[in-house]
Order: sequence, then structure tokens, then C-alpha cells
Amino acid sequence: MSSINKRIYGCLLIGACLILNSCAKNPVTGKNDFMLMSESQEIATGKQSDPEIVSFFGVYEDDNLHKFIQAKGQEMAGISHRKNLTYKFRVVDSPVVNAFAVPGGYVYFTRGIMAHFNNEAEFAGVLGHEIGHITARHSAKQYSRAMLAQVGLVAGTVISPEFAKYADIAQTGVGLLFLKFGRDAESQSDKLGVEYSTKIGYDAMEMATFFETLDRLQKKSGAEVPDFLSTHPNPADREDKVAKLAATWKKKSAVKDLKVGRNSYLKMIDGLVYGEDPKQGFVEGGVFFHPVLKFQFPIPREWNLENTPQQVQMAAKDGNAMMLMTLAGGSSLEEAAKAVLQKFQLTLVESGKRSVNGLPAIEMIADQQQQNQAIRTLSTLIQYNGNIYLFIGVAQRQQFDAYFKLFQSTMHNFDVLTDQSKLNRQPERIRIKTIQRNASFAQAMRDFSVDEKRVEETAILNGMSLNDPLEKGTLIKIIE
Ligand SMILES: [Zn+2]
Repeated sequence: MSSINKRIYGCLLIGACLILNSCAKNPVTGKNDFMLMSESQEIATGKQSDPEIVSFFGVYEDDNLHKFIQAKGQEMAGISHRKNLTYKFRVVDSPVVNAFAVPGGYVYFTRGIMAHFNNEAEFAGVLGHEIGHITARHSAKQYSRAMLAQVGLVAGTVISPEFAKYADIAQTGVGLLFLKFGRDAESQSDKLGVEYSTKIGYDAMEMATFFETLDRLQKKSGAEVPDFLSTHPNPADREDKVAKLAATWKKKSAVKDLKVGRNSYLKMIDGLVYGEDPKQGFVEGGVFFHPVLKFQFPIPREWNLENTPQQVQMAAKDGNAMMLMTLAGGSSLEEAAKAVLQKFQLTLVESGKRSVNGLPAIEMIADQQQQNQAIRTLSTLIQYNGNIYLFIGVAQRQQFDAYFKLFQSTMHNFDVLTDQSKLNRQPERIRIKTIQRNASFAQAMRDFSVDEKRVEETAILNGMSLNDPLEKGTLIKIIE
């Protein structure tokens, strides 16, 4: 946390100097642009954020996918407005449907969005959109503004319950990158997406149709919408604009047969993990299971849970209390307990040894005085399988007693996971199948015995409607 504070203050100082004398020519528009970040700062930001992003999500390991996005990414970077940058492209291990760019040339796709593309051209359109944010220096502008806005948030100590919903942002810094761009920036990136993808030989009309997929996903679940959709209340309008631009670029293009690349794309993603990967931990019946680290614990009823590779974060819906579960440092429980007090600047009220389902543990109550409020915490450190796990429950001093038992009911029920059905839980995967007879999409679903409840989801995944006629030999995605 402290490194992030330092970074932000560092940038602020640099920013303050730049305000006096910084005007840079925008590589896309050619106009002078007010910038808080120089190109070398952009590159430094990217270099610094990349390992954080990688450790936050994990990289999705798939050689073919990796080779594909590198090849297309570098090809597109080469025809972009900022060829001089060194670009990096990654697929991160997240089921969320998203793609994002970081200043300096870093572009990320989630495996969730890779699962939802239905051809190379859709991918190329989004790739162009993200590269567009970098070449038009949107990320840089946004990042500067975001940092200014976030200072108030991050400068405080992070474990206050009001920070429950921001805790991951403040702890990793990654959240800073997910802030939304403005409507103008998104429109400009859409344009660049069309331009760049056409220039490397793809039919940008496909980019327009991908907005339909995003629109359907948004309607289905409000939670998993990518940044480039959420700032646009009207994706249909955006789809129209992109379609018109695509038609214009098609006429301009030297390449006669612009590529879609449906079958090649689908074959490449055969076997892609779809949805949550249980090996990263999963919730079932109000219990969190981690099959790799082999533990389980119950979650307070009605609480929200967010699982990242670094921590499991649980928060009451009203935001009045939160719990974190993470790995603690130190080689003994005593050492780890000391480190927790130091890290969170806590004053110990009381502590004691105990056993949690036969595992050695230390429990402590500790206070934190913040400027305008008193915070009380309950921590339980548990030694298990060569690791020390930390639970920390946080509430305002006056409300702490009301949450005390609830915190304990989670922490004291941490246990060894032995249930084979949980330990061996496999993720769902995308499987590519060939349609055996001319049929509607709905009929094809029945032919492949797709669960009635998953038909709509599978239709969205395929970018198809239930009545779409499919010819024998067509490839489609099935969730298996
Ligand atoms: Zn965007």
C-alpha cells in the first residue's frame, strides 16, 4: 500500500511541475494536447503496472492464443500512430469480459472476452480500439486525472470499512486503470479500431456486431460489462457509427477480400476455460473452497465476496463491515501477528493463542485511530500446510460488537478441505462442435443436449439468435 501512496505522490509532484510547461503534440490528432504525463512517464507507468496486473489476474497460459495475440498485436502496432513504442499484449486469467490498455503500450484481454469473440476480425476491432487508447494518449490523460481523483481515497489508511468496496483498488493499484474513459475518447478509439483493423486486413464490420454481444451481456448481467460499453448508454448507436466507418474504410482499403477468420478463431479457442476457474477458489452453498490450497471457510450470509489471486474480500452489503482473507508473511504465528499490527498501524487491545479446527492460531483485537473515526479489528492468524493465513475483520468501533460473532463464525470455521468432489472440481470449457444437419440454433442446441437453462447464454457466446438457421458443417461453441 505504501508504495502506491508514494507513487501517487511522486506523480503528483511531477504533474505539478508539468502543469507549468507541458504541451505535447497528440500523435493521432496532431494537435497540441495538455498532458500531465510525458512519454517516458507513460512507459514507466506501463512497466510498473504490468507486474501488478499480472499478479492480480494471473496470465492465462495458452501457447496458441499467446502467439496469435502477439502476432496481431505487433502487426497492428506497426501500422499505428505510435510505432515507436514497445507494445506488450497479454491474455489475463479472468472470466470477466473485458479488454484494457495501460499507458506506454500495454494491452490486456481477459480470457472471458477471448471466449466471446467469434472470429479474428472481432478481436482485431477490439485490439484496435485498445491500441487506439494508447496512440491517442487517452490512458495517459485518464490516468493523470484518475490519480488526482484517487489521492483522497488512497491517502487514507485502507482498512476503514468505508473502503470495503475500494479495498482491492487501494491495495493493488490496478483499479486505477479501470476508470472509465469519456464518451469522446471511446468514439475516437472506435474510429481507430476500425482504421487499424482494416489496415491489417480485417473486416471491421465484425467489430460493429461485437457490440451486440456486449449489449446482450450487459442486459443479462449488469456486473460484467467492459469499460468501453459502460460509458455508452446506447450501444446500438455506437454499432451504427462503427458499421458506417467500416463501410468507408472498406472502400478505401487496398485489400479486396477483408478477412473475418471465423473457423480459424474458433479452432484456436477450442478448450478455453469458461467462467470461474475453481482452482482459483469457488463459492458453493455459502462456503468458500480453495482446492489448490486445500482449505474452506463459510461466508457471512448475504455478504458480497470478491476473490482475487491475492486475497478473498468479503463485505456486508451496507458497507459497514468487511473481512479480508489473505496469506500473511512471517515464519511463525507470533511474527506474522506482529507484522499485521505494523502493516495496518494497529494498536493491540488483546490477543491470545487458540486452535481453529485443530490448527494452531492466534486471535487478536486491535484498534486503529483514524483522523475522524475509530476502527476496531478482529484478526485470526492460522497456521496450515506451511502457510500462515490471515483473516481480518474490520468495523467502526461503535459497531464492532455487533459484528464480532459474525467475524468469528467465519474465522473459527476455517478448515482443511478434504471433500474430493470439491478438490477435483474442473472448470467449464469452450468446445467447438460441427453442426451435423441444417437446423436452427435452438434445434442445434437440442442436438447437442445443451441444458435448457444455458441455451440463451450459449447463444450470446456464439453471437447468434435462437432462430438463426445453421448449415450443416458450421462450427459452434458449446460449454462443456
Ligand atoms: Zn475504450
